[in-house]
Amino acid sequence: MRIGYFRRVTRLVRRCAFYLALGALGAGLAGCGAPGTAGRGAASPAPSTPSAGAASPDGGARVPPRPGNPQQQGRVPAAGGPAPVFSRAVPRPGTAAPKVVALTFDADMTADQGPRAARGERFDNPGLIEALRALKVPSTVFMTGRWAEEYPAQAKSIGTDTLFETGNHSYSHYAFTADCYGLPVVDRTRMLADVERARRAFERAGVRNTVPYFRFPGGCHDDAALRAVAPAGVTAVQWDVVSGDAFATDAGAVAEQVLAGVRPGSLVVMHCTRSAAPVTEEAVRRIVPALRDRGYRFVKVSELMRG
Ligand SMILES: [Zn+2]
Repeated sequence: MRIGYFRRVTRLVRRCAFYLALGALGAGLAGCGAPGTAGRGAASPAPSTPSAGAASPDGGARVPPRPGNPQQQGRVPAAGGPAPVFSRAVPRPGTAAPKVVALTFDADMTADQGPRAARGERFDNPGLIEALRALKVPSTVFMTGRWAEEYPAQAKSIGTDTLFETGNHSYSHYAFTADCYGLPVVDRTRMLADVERARRAFERAGVRNTVPYFRFPGGCHDDAALRAVAPAGVTAVQWDVVSGDAFATDAGAVAEQVLAGVRPGSLVVMHCTRSAAPVTEEAVRRIVPALRDRGYRFVKVSELMRG
């Protein structure tokens, strides 16, 4: 157990180092999140910390998911307050945790990656989306506005398919805190505008199944960032399981990491971009039947929040 944990951490740190290097070049893929490598507010996989889901990654109070709580609808609980944060489902006291798990896929593309796309780099992953359809896995896609502009047909296809729901992953995939994997940083005064710009890009592409959830690029956030995006009416959605698919080349290792990390109510972060997550489709094809064999049912984040 302990050896396995350190092996996973070592693997994550190695990937993060690679990610950091590429992040400095503007590759900017979210979901690294190894312990000690991320800025304040980034999620930790914390496989040996049972209480990982009990508090938000930034240490703030997390409202437990229950019917009627404002977090479910992504509403801001108090005027001027920070956006709520959701990282995983926590069972109601005295009840058994339902064996549900939410797979989430970040469709990353930074605002300055257009020239790379023009040169043929693929930031989409249609094979992954088709696999999710074939396997009938309800999923939540966190899309950047820039991605929706680059791939409007795919954005519309995902955004009009009831198998999926679409959350906001910012327009530019720039960081909302300093020191976030080397990503360029959005000025505090531009944060809300960046979120709204993504929303307008989804509208233009014909995305209809939007949900009021926001995933911070890299998962990096602090109280000021939560307050900046709160007027958009969003809940910040983090995760408790890091798939490690960023820059992975071994689908089996990604699948192994997810299968080792998932608990009832878990929320898994993965990516929908062949450029920087080339083995995600294959990993999903391994993860889905394995978790179903264990009795898990796949749900969207919205269902996970309902508890
Ligand atoms: Zn991302």
